[in-house]
Amino acid sequence: MERDIYDEDHEDFRGLVKDFIKRHVTNEAIQRWDAEGEIDRAAMRAAAEAGILGLSVPEEFGGGGMLRDYRYRAVVGEEIIAVGGGSLAGAFGIQDDLAVPYLVHMGTEEQKAKWLPRMATAEVIGALAMTEPGAGSDLRGISTTAKKVEGGYVINGAKTFISSGKTADLVVTFVKTGEGNRPDAFSIVLIENGMDGFDHGKKLSKLGSHGHDTAELSFTDVFVPEENLLGGQEGRGFVQLMMNLPLERLSIGVAGACAAQAALAWTVDYTKSREAFGQRIIDFQNTRFKLADVAATVDALWAYVDRALLAYKDGKLSAEEAAKVKFWASEREWEVLDTCLQLHGGYGYMNEYPITRAFADARVHRIYGGTNEIMRDIVSRQLAGKPGA
Ligand SMILES: Cc1cc2nc3c(=O)[nH]c(=O)nc-3n(C[C@H](O)[C@H](O)[C@H](O)COP(=O)(O)OP(=O)(O)OC[C@H]3O[C@@H](n4cnc5c(N)ncnc54)[C@H](O)[C@@H]3O)c2cc1C
Repeated sequence: MERDIYDEDHEDFRGLVKDFIKRHVTNEAIQRWDAEGEIDRAAMRAAAEAGILGLSVPEEFGGGGMLRDYRYRAVVGEEIIAVGGGSLAGAFGIQDDLAVPYLVHMGTEEQKAKWLPRMATAEVIGALAMTEPGAGSDLRGISTTAKKVEGGYVINGAKTFISSGKTADLVVTFVKTGEGNRPDAFSIVLIENGMDGFDHGKKLSKLGSHGHDTAELSFTDVFVPEENLLGGQEGRGFVQLMMNLPLERLSIGVAGACAAQAALAWTVDYTKSREAFGQRIIDFQNTRFKLADVAATVDALWAYVDRALLAYKDGKLSAEEAAKVKFWASEREWEVLDTCLQLHGGYGYMNEYPITRAFADARVHRIYGGTNEIMRDIVSRQLAGKPGA
């Protein structure tokens, strides 16, 4: 089904992305990122230079000024995931969808002026640290504390599973500044690479997204000056998190649709080129029927995700709607990737094939950004008339 949410500007922009891919997202680069467990800074800078990263940074700070129009980031995701660059797309997402928006929406003027121009060029890489070894879904259970001292805060605690955590220069960190677990007991502080007592820990070994670093972070008596309290307001951390979560969840839905679309294309190509029992794999009725199911699912995915993209652009994507998109899209993505991998036979289990890596990468979409169980909880609470979880 033809999609109609892109206009000429988006299609022109697609040309820029394709050009960047030709130069920088080669098989050699993808293999190197996977082997090194991180995207090299030169690639991030080149993307910023090409105008495809830093899209959510306002123009006045040197970025693309497209925080609300997620269609540009959707184009980047489509093209990069189509060539097997899921880890790179993930690293872009952490910068443009997770770290930058906190500063744009909630930073003080000084914080924006200090960080955004360098985030636009990828001189500064950001990360978002909420999860802790003892608290993931239940964020009110965190134990990283920020104790008020003269001129700032002293941070103690640890975070885990932090995407871009090893490479980050600036970590948007969710901490406790008060007693108990009331929403006003939490704040967000900006912790900088190189601050005494801040350790990026080790890169975590994981099932997929091998080219994008995920790390444990620890904070031992880290002094953070007052001016690094996000928005200059103590006790606003929970509200600040809630404001950005719909975008994070939309971005996962978009990534799911991109991966499903790519998997369909890879699988049509593969089943046309491989033969068994004297005919092409695509000539078996089972293959064609499975591919027909996948094609319809991809259309439905885009129809839904595109609607959400437009709602987000118009400021109308609620927390509940974003939660639905996140769980539904990531589950359709998972079904599509599983079907497509099966049609690759044993080659679908080999890491050199993009379907294999995309399958492993997709698994986390049902886990991070809030697990799909938590997404269903948010949606069903609204249905039951008791929102606010
Ligand atoms: C690769 C990767 C990257 C990540 N990147 C980041 C990042 O950049 N920043 C960050 O802060 N975090 C990040 N995370 C963490 C991620 O958001 C958490 O793993 C996720 O929120 C789940 O938390 P948890 O792992 O503690 O699981 P738990 O909360 O312990 O959940 C375990 C199981 O219990 C279920 N469960 C929990 N509560 C309920 C409930 N109320 N009702 C029903 N079921 C429930 C969950 O759905 C899950 O199935 C990342 C995780 C991974 C794997």
